Amino acid sequence: MTPTFRFAPSPNGELHLGHALSALDGFSQAQKRGGKFLLRIEDIDTARCREQFVAGIFEDLAWLGATWEQPVLRQSRHFPFYRAMAAKLEAMGLLYPCFATRTEIQSSAQPGAADPDGAPIYPGLHKRLSHAEIADRKAAGQPFALRIDSDRASEAVAEKLNGRALSWREYDPADDAITMQIATPEVWGDAVIVRKDFPASYHLAVVCDDARQDVTHVTRGADLFQATSLQRLLQVLLDLPEPLYAHHRLLMDDTGRKLSKSDADTSLKALRGAGATPEDVRRMAQIV
Ligand code: GLU
Repeated sequence: MTPTFRFAPSPNGELHLGHALSALDGFSQAQKRGGKFLLRIEDIDTARCREQFVAGIFEDLAWLGATWEQPVLRQSRHFPFYRAMAAKLEAMGLLYPCFATRTEIQSSAQPGAADPDGAPIYPGLHKRLSHAEIADRKAAGQPFALRIDSDRASEAVAEKLNGRALSWREYDPADDAITMQIATPEVWGDAVIVRKDFPASYHLAVVCDDARQDVTHVTRGADLFQATSLQRLLQVLLDLPEPLYAHHRLLMDDTGRKLSKSDADTSLKALRGAGATPEDVRRMAQIV
């Protein structure tokens, strides 16, 4: 299988130095291995994504000297596909509708119980609604998300893995050494798999696309390390292939916080505008 890498940004802000590190890391690994480098636009959140940022991604990456395969997959064009994948999980009895609002969830969540993204662990409010209540709420037009029943999912995974632990293979790009990581999807609780406002979630879309694009190596920032646990769970449940993973270091700002899209001064566009060259960006992001 051709080694296949991907950079999968969400166009909800300008790319910054951290994205340059991520993109060039995947690109250079693909080149070294004679593999493919894909660019995937993760724009399922149509309310937050903007065309101007999509255009900015192409511009920034071309400026950095990266090249990628065509056509570029845009997740917003593939909602029926994600819907069909979610339907498989539903048919396995692993998803349930949750009509609760953010405020309702926050007010009954256990204080301090947060998932790796900092969101409250779902307190199970609508986990065991009766069929009649679900039907009534749906008939009344109440919007709902679909959440994974983490108890049933872990039983289903245990059965599929025949007692083996759910894990992933983390590789070191320097020497290809592989470390087995034990996945802990329980840290996400009953995560949302299909959002209220669009027919997927980041985790569902990412595993479905990594599989259908034959991605063999997932390279991304260490901020997504914990996400891999939930994504491996979905891969096993959906019988999707298991890629290798490499989570790279994060770039921090002067106060020790991870760079974010709101730090305008580290945006690639701003740096370019101020006269920086792609070599400057490599130096600033400590890319060797
Ligand atoms: N779209 C995600 C982000 O911009 C990254 C997805 C991934 O690399 O798995 O944070």
